[in-house]
Amino acid sequence: MNPSILTLMGLVMSAAPSEALPPIQVFLHGSTVVPAGVLIEARQEAARILREAGVETQWFECSPSAGSAQPEPACEVALLPSRVVVMIAARWKRHYCRVRGSAPVLMEVLGEATCSGQSCNNDVTIYFQIVERRAQRSDARRVRLLGGAIAHEIGHVLLGPEHSTGIMAADWAEKDVLRAPADKLLFSAADRGRLQQQVRARLGVDQQVASGAGR
Ligand SMILES: [Zn+2]
Repeated sequence: MNPSILTLMGLVMSAAPSEALPPIQVFLHGSTVVPAGVLIEARQEAARILREAGVETQWFECSPSAGSAQPEPACEVALLPSRVVVMIAARWKRHYCRVRGSAPVLMEVLGEATCSGQSCNNDVTIYFQIVERRAQRSDARRVRLLGGAIAHEIGHVLLGPEHSTGIMAADWAEKDVLRAPADKLLFSAADRGRLQQQVRARLGVDQQVASGAGR
C-alpha cells in the first residue's frame, strides 16, 4: 500500500477519539417518584439517545435517598450553561397544543421545557403520571417513554423550542412511539450537528465562567 495512504488512515483513526466532546452534566430529581429500576434504565435510555447524537452525559441523582436526607453534594453546584436539571414530577399536565397548523387540541404533556425566544432554560420537568398512564403497567414502556421524554427535553435545552423530526418531533408521544424501533427514535442528522455545536460552545462558556469566578 502507498505509505501516504497509510499515514492518512492513521491520522483519521487517531483523530476520531480526540474529537469526542466532554460529557454534559445532568442533575436528575426523580427517585422519590419513579421506581428505582425504571429510573436507572430510563436514564440509560436517554443517555443512549444522546450518545447516538455524539453527546455524552454524566448523571447525578439529586433527590434525597431513603437512607439520607441530603442530596448528593455534586448536586449543589452552579447551573452552568452546559448543565441540565431534570425534575420528574409525580403529577400530570395537559395544555392546548397546535400541531402542524391544526386547530389547538388539548394534549397531555409528557415533559416541558421553559423557553423564551429562541432559547430554553436549563431546567425541565417530566410528568410521571402521564408516563404511567401511557405505559399501561409495562416497565419496558415506562423506560422507553421516560427515557425518550428526558432526551427530548434535554434536546430543547440545547437546541431551543423548535421541533423537528425523530426524537424532537412535536407529537412523538402521539405517534405510536412505543412501536417504533429504538433506532428510529433518535435525533435527526441536522439536530445531531447542532447539538454537538451547542455542547462545544456551552462547555467553552462554562470554562470562561469558571476562570472568571477564580479570579
Ligand atoms: Zn417538545
